[in-house]
Amino acid sequence: MNISELARRLRVSTDELRSKLPELGFDIGGKAIKLPDRDVGKIMAAWNEMKKRQYLQKKMEDQKARAERKLKVVEGTAEHVFIPSTISVRDFAAKLNLPVQKVMQELMRNGILAALNQHVDFESAAIIAGDLGFIAEPEDVAAAVDLGAGADRLERVREEERTDDVSVARPPVIVVMGHVDHGKTSLLDVIRSTNVVAGESGGITQHIGAYQVVRNGRTLTFIDTPGHEAFTVMRSRGAKVADLAILVVAADDGVQPQTKEAIDIIKAAKLPFVVAINKIDKENANLELVKSQLAEQGLVPEDWGGNTVCVKVSAKQKLHIEDLLDVLLLKADLEKSSIVANPNRRAMGTIIESRVDKGQGPVATIIVQTGTLKAKDFLSVAGQLYGRVRALTAFDGKILKEAGPSTPVKILGFKVPPAVGDILEVPENPDELESATEQASKRVSGSDIGTKHITTTDETTDGDDKVILNIMIKADVLGSLEALVGMVEKIDNPHVAVRIISKGLGNISEADVDRAEAAKAVIYAFSVRAFPSAAELARTKDVDISEQTVIYRIYEDIIERLKKLLPSEKVYTDLGTGEVLALFKKTDKGQIVGVKVKKGKLMSNSVARVLRAGQVVGEGRIEAIQSGKSTVKDVLMGQECGLSFAGKVRIEVGDMLELYQEELHARAFAV
Ligand code: GDP
Repeated sequence: MNISELARRLRVSTDELRSKLPELGFDIGGKAIKLPDRDVGKIMAAWNEMKKRQYLQKKMEDQKARAERKLKVVEGTAEHVFIPSTISVRDFAAKLNLPVQKVMQELMRNGILAALNQHVDFESAAIIAGDLGFIAEPEDVAAAVDLGAGADRLERVREEERTDDVSVARPPVIVVMGHVDHGKTSLLDVIRSTNVVAGESGGITQHIGAYQVVRNGRTLTFIDTPGHEAFTVMRSRGAKVADLAILVVAADDGVQPQTKEAIDIIKAAKLPFVVAINKIDKENANLELVKSQLAEQGLVPEDWGGNTVCVKVSAKQKLHIEDLLDVLLLKADLEKSSIVANPNRRAMGTIIESRVDKGQGPVATIIVQTGTLKAKDFLSVAGQLYGRVRALTAFDGKILKEAGPSTPVKILGFKVPPAVGDILEVPENPDELESATEQASKRVSGSDIGTKHITTTDETTDGDDKVILNIMIKADVLGSLEALVGMVEKIDNPHVAVRIISKGLGNISEADVDRAEAAKAVIYAFSVRAFPSAAELARTKDVDISEQTVIYRIYEDIIERLKKLLPSEKVYTDLGTGEVLALFKKTDKGQIVGVKVKKGKLMSNSVARVLRAGQVVGEGRIEAIQSGKSTVKDVLMGQECGLSFAGKVRIEVGDMLELYQEELHARAFAV
């Protein structure tokens, strides 16, 4: 048989077949045109076997990936995607960076038949996104200009500083945006690796959400969370961190949906920007096409007579990266009247990353925007005391004494983790502020000793970790529907939230039940009924339909359900601090050490944070306390005692042990 005939039967190209044959154990030489008949059957069988193996392998990988994605959504660590109120299936797939086919399949599984260019609403898209391993959030560019109180104050200060004579130039803060896969991360990596001054870094480079490089003696600050998601979160909370933007467009792919979104955001924020046309090393790079697409978006390149600066780069081959930095510096020069700050005032800035570290407690990165942040400074967010600076670490691991304008710095010392986008201030009168921890402890039943602070998870809280109750609302007339929606939207609790996955008029249909089941939603039927078939389906699928004729009953029912969803909270109670004076002996689980109580009291069955020279070096449990010859429950300030410590860290003489207790409390519900 001709090899081309066999290829046709196997539905592959002749070249592909030829190249795969040796792998399958048939060496026919590179030039052969005909195959012996006796081999044809064997080749076909081997080929099918290979395809089957590949299919199973892929299926297995898909399943594994799916399970991992699900887990991330549950844990709240999944990627957030921002979705407008309606979106076409094509754009939706692009946002998720998934093949359109896959998104359509998922829509179909949820009973939504939509073609490529048809639009789905936010609620539906959010459900599908959740199934595919993303956390969907409404994109609301309009809300981006809405300033919170802290952001407002910061803006006012910055406005004044533009004309103050005490202000001095500061490094520009730069954000990188663009479509997925166009090379934002690669570009940030190559800028970082080639321009961080060698020998200057004092320790291990770490990811703190931003970094600085020096070019021709001038410093530039880069926010290294690529993509406009982080930027949008910050903007939506009123924070204006960036002075300049780089819009990355791949030379082989051109302007794509997220490029357009980034352009919209840049325009809405009136952010000066340069375009980095990346991947110019690629064979199919088409600069002219990219430029014409940019021009279509109103960004006419300079060499076409417009004023959009474009720099051709290759992150992969490190081409023209310095040019890009030079152009950024030139842009910064044009904006120099606004890229200033007064370093000699109380610091203010925006939180760009925040998480709770198991050993270190809450850690957050701030970009200082005005003033200078110093060790021991008090920290406040929205008029509440959040803690006090215990340590400042730069992106290169160096411990800093202070951080001036445009410096990204990791802060240790928060009692309560701030949220990304929060405006952090060093308060003028810390004594007058109510501490966030006190506020929290008020919410906890009868507070007693020490301060308490609250976190909901061990990992991270950026304010988005609420437990969600999904509901569907169907009503008889528009007026009642609007009243119901308005009522639900007013429910505001820091830990749980209601999401209306769909709303509409008329009786409950089977499709409604299917949809509610997919979203695990409760259906509220106000003065409407379920069709008998839908009621039957709801029974078999275990979907709750609550039929009511009084609006307030629906409210009560929702609140009842929310109460059941409230996660219990971890309450930390600070106990006291002890200094390690002696090391007695090693035990299976840790050590027995001699300690003098410096502050508060020490109790057994508590957690001890080990501090060495002000830095947390580890954590463990205090299992027993020995005072004199007897075992005691607690020891007070001034006393000495023996502590049996269980933990991995090796305690040394001179270490400080900060003791606290951790308890789970049921939360009270507050709307
Ligand atoms: P992001 O999604 O925008 O952050 O994109 P990444 O930085 O993750 O890059 C996406 C892909 O493009 C990766 O496989 C990179 O290796 C590749 N890439 C990035 N920059 C270049 C470039 O300049 N040339 C080429 N050929 N590939 C690049």
